[in-house]
Amino acid sequence: MPRGTGAWGVPPWRAEARPHLEPPPAHCDVAVVGAGLTGLAAARALAEGGARVAVLDAGRIGGGASGHTGGLALEGTHVGALPGMERCLERLAARTRALGIDCSLEESGCLELAHREPGTAPAKALHWSDDGRVLVPVGEEPGGVLDPGRLVSGLARAAREAGASLHERAAVAPLPLAGDALTIDSTRGRVRTSAVVVAANAWAPALVPLAPEPVAALTVALCTAPLASEALTDLGLPPPRTFYTVDLPYLWGRSTRDGRFLVGGGLVPASSAELRRPPAGAVDARLDALARRVRALHAGLSEAVFTARWAGPLSLLRGRPPFLGRHPADPRVLVAGGYTGHGVAASLVAGEWLARAILDDEPLPDWGAFG
Ligand SMILES: Cc1cc2nc3c(=O)[nH]c(=O)nc-3n(C[C@H](O)[C@H](O)[C@H](O)COP(=O)(O)OP(=O)(O)OC[C@H]3O[C@@H](n4cnc5c(N)ncnc54)[C@H](O)[C@@H]3O)c2cc1C
Repeated sequence: MPRGTGAWGVPPWRAEARPHLEPPPAHCDVAVVGAGLTGLAAARALAEGGARVAVLDAGRIGGGASGHTGGLALEGTHVGALPGMERCLERLAARTRALGIDCSLEESGCLELAHREPGTAPAKALHWSDDGRVLVPVGEEPGGVLDPGRLVSGLARAAREAGASLHERAAVAPLPLAGDALTIDSTRGRVRTSAVVVAANAWAPALVPLAPEPVAALTVALCTAPLASEALTDLGLPPPRTFYTVDLPYLWGRSTRDGRFLVGGGLVPASSAELRRPPAGAVDARLDALARRVRALHAGLSEAVFTARWAGPLSLLRGRPPFLGRHPADPRVLVAGGYTGHGVAASLVAGEWLARAILDDEPLPDWGAFG
């Protein structure tokens, strides 16, 4: 089984390859901290609206959760539908089409599965076993699949084309809130700005105080080599079908058009500071446990060969809505995040909400996220 390189391993897609190593400008209208889906969507919309935008990322574009997701585009948020978060899938499709981003977005539907004791499952069960129980379909949600690498790269290109500047390896220091001038310090220089978008996901609490504070963690995923077509048919998950469990232990996944099975679940606890360098062996141990779980899921997977193994950061707000709004201590600082593993479509919509709030002073939906 191949091991990934680096602490997180490598997913089977690649985000923006072109380096952006110019230092950020000394002045801009809006500084966006974080070049994932949230930050890039905000940057494109802000630049399109005429703002001078600089995007600073501590690592590479898409190097956080966005380049490491499973590519399931889900409706709404992890706590369900919220005002302003309606029709996320439709908006994602419309926006990528308008920006000419080919990220292979396909409607797939998403099966909701629940663990049940053996013998209590209905005849139409999937014949999947997990955690000593069987997995049973209990619902169907709207959903889509996409190539996360191409989505991130496409948004980065779209932001650049609208005039935003992108700056990698520019780690931003904790933000000074409520001072006279809004200044951000980064490892590649200081930027004076009129507004800041904090789109740093699992690292956001290291930049601004957030209450309630989201919990940071890494989660892991695997992708098999193409399966024999009978194995894929037996599995009962014809591509591009997706699934997630509605109970614990959590498992999500999908089949791909080239016959692979992509699956994830399981957390590696890590503080924001530990995310990039998790405790030695912790990610591999969690990946090994996931591999055993996947091989035991179905007879057709018992010999599965995994061609990609990777981890990525999550920002978890269990039972609470994501953050979307102006920071209570400084309205010039806007925050979006805490999507709790449900952020592919939501992050794009949230980033665009923040852009409209800055450009047009449009009121943001109030989800009661801050406190
Ligand atoms: C393995 C995995 C699978 C997932 N699967 C799915 C899925 O199938 N469907 C779904 O809906 N969601 C999924 N998610 C969640 C989804 O990927 C995220 O919600 C979404 O990508 C968040 O985007 P973001 O732009 O807010 O954050 P990120 O993409 O994490 O971007 C934050 C950026 O901020 C940068 N940053 C952090 N600190 C600083 C600093 N001090 N200075 C400068 N830059 C900084 C980071 O380098 C990073 O690039 C998954 C997540 C993981 C990890």
